[in-house]
Amino acid sequence: MNPKKIKAFILDGNRDLHERLFVLSMIIMLVVWLLTLAEISLLGCTVPEILLLAGAILATAGVTVLSVRMGHYRIGALLISIGITFAFLPITFFGGGGIYGDAPLWFLFSILFICVSLSGKVKLVMLLLNGVTTVACWCISYLYPETIIENTRFSAHLYSLFALLMMATAVGILVSFQNRIYAKEVLRSQEQKQEIQQLGEAQNRFFSSMSHEIRTPINTIIGLNEMILREDISDEVAEDAQNIQSAGKMLLHLINDILDMSKLSSGKMELSYAPYHPGNMLSELVGMLWLRAKEKQLEFHVNVSPDIPAELIGDEMRIKQILVNVLNNAIKYTKEGSVTLSLQRGETADGMTNIIYTVTDTGIGIKKESIPYLFTAFRRGDEEQNRYIEGTGLGLSIVKELVDLMGGKITVNSVYTKGSTFIIEIPQRAVADDPIGEVHIERRKAEAFKQKHRVLYEAPEARVLVVDDNASNLLVTEKLLRETKVQTDTVSSGAEALKKTLNTHYHVIFMDHLMPEMDGIECLRAIRAQVGGLCKDSKVVALTANAGEENRTIYKKEGFDGHLVKPISGDLLEKELYCLLPKELTIVTGEEEEILKETISWMNATQQRKAVAITTESVADLPEELLKEHGIAVIPHMVCTEEGNFKDGIEIETSGLLHYMEDEECKVSVEGAGVAELESFFAKQLAAANNVIHISISSKLANSGCLAAKEAAKAFDNVTVIDTGQLSSGQGLVVLDACRYAAMGMSPKEIAEALENSKDLVRSSFIVDNLDFLARAGQVSRKIADLTRAIMARPVLVMKNGKLGVKKVYFGTRERAWVNYIKDVLRYPHTIDPERLVITYVGLNSREREWIRTEVEKHMHFEQVYYYQASPVIAVNCGSGSFALFVKTMEKSA
Ligand code: ADP
Repeated sequence: MNPKKIKAFILDGNRDLHERLFVLSMIIMLVVWLLTLAEISLLGCTVPEILLLAGAILATAGVTVLSVRMGHYRIGALLISIGITFAFLPITFFGGGGIYGDAPLWFLFSILFICVSLSGKVKLVMLLLNGVTTVACWCISYLYPETIIENTRFSAHLYSLFALLMMATAVGILVSFQNRIYAKEVLRSQEQKQEIQQLGEAQNRFFSSMSHEIRTPINTIIGLNEMILREDISDEVAEDAQNIQSAGKMLLHLINDILDMSKLSSGKMELSYAPYHPGNMLSELVGMLWLRAKEKQLEFHVNVSPDIPAELIGDEMRIKQILVNVLNNAIKYTKEGSVTLSLQRGETADGMTNIIYTVTDTGIGIKKESIPYLFTAFRRGDEEQNRYIEGTGLGLSIVKELVDLMGGKITVNSVYTKGSTFIIEIPQRAVADDPIGEVHIERRKAEAFKQKHRVLYEAPEARVLVVDDNASNLLVTEKLLRETKVQTDTVSSGAEALKKTLNTHYHVIFMDHLMPEMDGIECLRAIRAQVGGLCKDSKVVALTANAGEENRTIYKKEGFDGHLVKPISGDLLEKELYCLLPKELTIVTGEEEEILKETISWMNATQQRKAVAITTESVADLPEELLKEHGIAVIPHMVCTEEGNFKDGIEIETSGLLHYMEDEECKVSVEGAGVAELESFFAKQLAAANNVIHISISSKLANSGCLAAKEAAKAFDNVTVIDTGQLSSGQGLVVLDACRYAAMGMSPKEIAEALENSKDLVRSSFIVDNLDFLARAGQVSRKIADLTRAIMARPVLVMKNGKLGVKKVYFGTRERAWVNYIKDVLRYPHTIDPERLVITYVGLNSREREWIRTEVEKHMHFEQVYYYQASPVIAVNCGSGSFALFVKTMEKSA
């Protein structure tokens, strides 16, 4: 065995740590054993003892070498652990003086060996077995001291001292080795961290240089292509050119996305907050997207709440990017119908105003299972369906990261095949309290590109210099400016530019940023400081292929008068030039009328989206007036009969149903709405509200619909379903509470929390004539119903912990039973909320109803009493001759 090789083996960081520890501990043990062998030979031990130890040394060394060579060191370690535990330890213990010899130290060493060389379950088992052997040895030596071969006093001292020194050395070596490995690992992880950082930086550098490199040729493609489109060309050529245009733009979009993603993931994305006018931003946004929507024959609406502040502080460019992405998707994934952008002012806190942007479309919608992955980079929704829709799956992940960076929130509600709503909230500071007021949106005439471009002005007296090291870029810029008739000179370096500016006065200079030798910024400084130069005060616009428009602050700081990103749009170039040229040099060509002024369809108060919509089921038994007053949307339960299924309260009414049910043989049951219906219902509500709180009947009732509502809500981020644990007007009282909380401006989360507390305060109970109807609806067994009827019992059904049960039974006449029921419900008036009482009845005549009202008045006065016939579904369960008092208690009772 070569010691150098062994050392290299043990220090080899690429090998399994346990394997190295195994070999190291085996070497230590073998050395200790060899020294022990020498020791006992010198001290005159018996031959069998010497042979035994020598055999153990040979066997251990053999197993170690073999197992490591064969790549199965774990087996070797296990075999040696077994040998030590069951042979070596007991022999050393009983043959070497028991607890007064060197054996206890060997027990200690064996535990150390097992711990460093084994792992997982095997280690645990071996430690356990080792423990068992130890305990057994100690017990046997205590109970049968004669089994121990005693050492002489001298040899006991000598052996234990020797073993102690060996052990201490072994432990010391092992611990130093571990420390060394730990230090090495720490160093390695630091190196790796640095490497990752460097890799990340290299990646960012790569992305930004790639972006720069790709932008330059795209600039040429898009720019020259635009020139082709401006020419008088055939339809076929125009169509080809337009395809080149959209492919170029798509490529550009992709580069921007990749660059943004890389910045976001490396935490290098910086926001640039500045005051901006949301009206102007919307105007630009509509200008960008309206044509696309129009091309797909989609309606494009913009609704802006008039209370949006006129000026906000935020990162306008990034907000625009977010909205463009979401609106682009809405247009992309919608075949017919409309796309709507709404802006609303949300709550204000800490001087920040929440601006809520809602993008709704009537498109293909998103499958429920795709929603959790919507914001994951490179993941697209329905791959099958999206196969023919271009996209990379990057847009929404960038949107989400940007929204998060701004401290905002994005949520999505979508019904597959019906449409989607994206709600984005971004907190921003209002510059002043002035509302946005009336804003005009510039909208382009819907003409093909070919006919669309009209130069708005001419400036033949104006002189313009374009500086760019790339010849194609010079060509593009020059051509794009041609129609304005400005006198354009081009140069390909900073030095040439300085020569020109020394002798010629240029009104505007378009300056590329990245150029060899002298870059754009250096060149600008030189122009400004040029002794005898004629362009010290000229307007200079930076042209850059660096996508990060955040560079605008840098350019501004450097003294540039404008900043255009390549590929340069002809329109923007013309506009920029128009703004910078002295007005006396420009001649408006009269074609300004080509730009149409359009007003955003300003949202009036009635159109305003609600922050929270409260919805419920027909079984909540709320009267029409209350539903209207609070704008509560109701989804009907179904009444299922042999004649067909009917929507509760819409296609069937209570008295008709009672009449039908007079036939005792008829089968009637009720059923809550299904998942698909509920999804459509929620989607419809979300078209006019940012959130929905759906108040549902107890989920513990058969066919309640509550669970379906919860399932349907999964398709939406903004739908919360409350299981009231109540039914009928008990549930209705919870709905009214929800409306009150919403009117107080509570957030959906706060409303849900408040309802979880207040729903248990509602007391729902019904007194019924018998249980026949419930038996027929399958809610109680037929036998119980028959028994109830036979003994003329009038049961009181009570909702307790969400379940419907018979709480009390009154005997005797109806009148007596009713008196007792009313007395029971209103027994402790001081505990009942006097604000409102709801009485619902099934099949009672006016005299009976009046009688009940008078009886109630005898016990307690309520500020508001709602009194009406229960819905058909409730009638199915209670039957004619039933009524119910619904009250709220002041505080929870047990
Ligand atoms: P993509 O480039 O695929 O459009 P996004 O990140 O913008 O990437 O969107 C991710 C996925 O979300 C899309 O592939 C699409 O399936 C789905 N999606 C986004 N917006 C809508 C929408 N308005 N309607 C339907 N599906 C949408």
